[in-house]
Amino acid sequence: MRALVWCGSCGSRFLHRQSDRRSYIKQPDGSVKLCPTGRVQRAYTCQVGRYKSRKRGDKVCSISQPTFGADRLENMVWSGVRRLLEHPETVQEMIEARKAEFDLNGTNSELDVRNRRLDKLEEERQKILTAFQKGYMPEPELDIKMRGIRERGEMYESQLEALRHELANYDRYMETLDSFSASSEDIRNTLDLLTLEERNKMMKALVERVDILSGERINVHTILDVEVLNSDLMAHRL
Ligand SMILES: [Zn+2]
Repeated sequence: MRALVWCGSCGSRFLHRQSDRRSYIKQPDGSVKLCPTGRVQRAYTCQVGRYKSRKRGDKVCSISQPTFGADRLENMVWSGVRRLLEHPETVQEMIEARKAEFDLNGTNSELDVRNRRLDKLEEERQKILTAFQKGYMPEPELDIKMRGIRERGEMYESQLEALRHELANYDRYMETLDSFSASSEDIRNTLDLLTLEERNKMMKALVERVDILSGERINVHTILDVEVLNSDLMAHRL
């Protein structure tokens, strides 16, 4: 899920961090030693939310809690995916929508939307650069914002690439959607038996992005990633 988590406040990526958990252990001589516990601590963090603009004294990102425990977040997203899979009509709707999209001028409408998003991002980049050049923005803030723009650009590009790929393999994709639809009941019945790896794969196939909102709320955007549905592991399930 690492590339899928974004800040709902400032729009930059929530980075996944992993660190060893340590605990203080008292030694026989009375001193205290920091020892690894063998457990790891994982969290997702909005780097912008953590950064305070020194010049203006305010936060560039207004999210209430810029750090989210990874296990907790992943479980929340999985609950969302589960709810989706447990409602066959929703899955069927998604499949129909996906098919309709393909049928409409060969998904050109969505290609346009996505291309426009890239154009908008470029406009945003220019605005930020101008603000920096005019001295309205300190350099650390520029760096952080530029990184956010770059990350979103990469995400949009990869979504565009996936869409082009789907277009070029239209027939195969239609078959996959049909077989996913046909076996969605089997999939529902095996939800509790999925290994962690399978669970992650399922999330990858059905979640386009997760926005973290203030108050530790999340917004899960779902898709049907046909490329993932087509992969070996899914094929085995279908
Ligand atoms: Zn943020």
